[in-house]
Amino acid sequence: MQIRHKAKKSLGQNFLQDANIARKIVDSLKIGKNDSVIEIGPGQGALTKYILEAGPESLTLIEKDRNLAPALAEEFPAAYVCQEDALKFKWENLDPEKKWKIVGNLPYNVASKIMWDVAAKSNAVCVFMVQHEVATRITADPGSKKYGGITVWIKSFCDTQYLFKVPPTVFKPKPKVDSAVIKFFPKPDNEKPVDIKGLAGLIKYCFQYRRKQLGKILKSFISDSVVQWAEDEGLSLKDRPEALSPLQFQSLYKCVKNDFPS
Ligand code: SAM
Repeated sequence: MQIRHKAKKSLGQNFLQDANIARKIVDSLKIGKNDSVIEIGPGQGALTKYILEAGPESLTLIEKDRNLAPALAEEFPAAYVCQEDALKFKWENLDPEKKWKIVGNLPYNVASKIMWDVAAKSNAVCVFMVQHEVATRITADPGSKKYGGITVWIKSFCDTQYLFKVPPTVFKPKPKVDSAVIKFFPKPDNEKPVDIKGLAGLIKYCFQYRRKQLGKILKSFISDSVVQWAEDEGLSLKDRPEALSPLQFQSLYKCVKNDFPS
């Protein structure tokens, strides 16, 4: 049975039609027989059959659409189908004894929110297809115009890699923009931030004023320790948030956390 579904007009419902690209995305996850794989937004199953062909220990499909989910369960009985919103999924509850890998051609309207959560909470190697512009932001280096809050956040938990670009012509309906595939490699636990709620608040606060200098953004928190922090990090309070590496955001948070609302 082939899964058919009337394409919705809402942003992010672009179904991949190109088998070579589907295979290339799945191959880049390097699935082994001990891996537990989760696919987010499998849609009509463009990636799913190649994931199963790779022979993972298990495959879970998280699909929000209530028509697509039962059709997926029928076509792929070897997979466990969750008809659920990936934004509500409890990534932190994944069994830490298993080797998790997460893949998805993400719904573009919620891709950043999904990746924000997955990177911080799942400890999984991930491969995602997203809008090209989002892919370049997530893989940007400090100092670049593309470097923003989501870059700092995801790179606090994972190393990120830009894999390849995908043209609009391989989707139905055809989106207006290019897409790209990116990969996340989780950092060891002892390198990840601990107080993640507070850190998230600081990152969002700073990038809300990305054109302003750190001294102005942090004026309510400036103390001797912040001045010392900047000196130790080789930074100036005239620098802008985009100059700070993810580790520097973590050390800045340690300095201001007693005064910063979390
Ligand atoms: N993976 C398929 C492909 O490559 O053809 C479909 C990709 S399509 C861009 C995104 C899919 O995500 C759709 O099937 C949509 O129903 C599903 N989706 C949208 N929002 C979702 C959410 N919050 N949680 C889980 N699935 C979602």
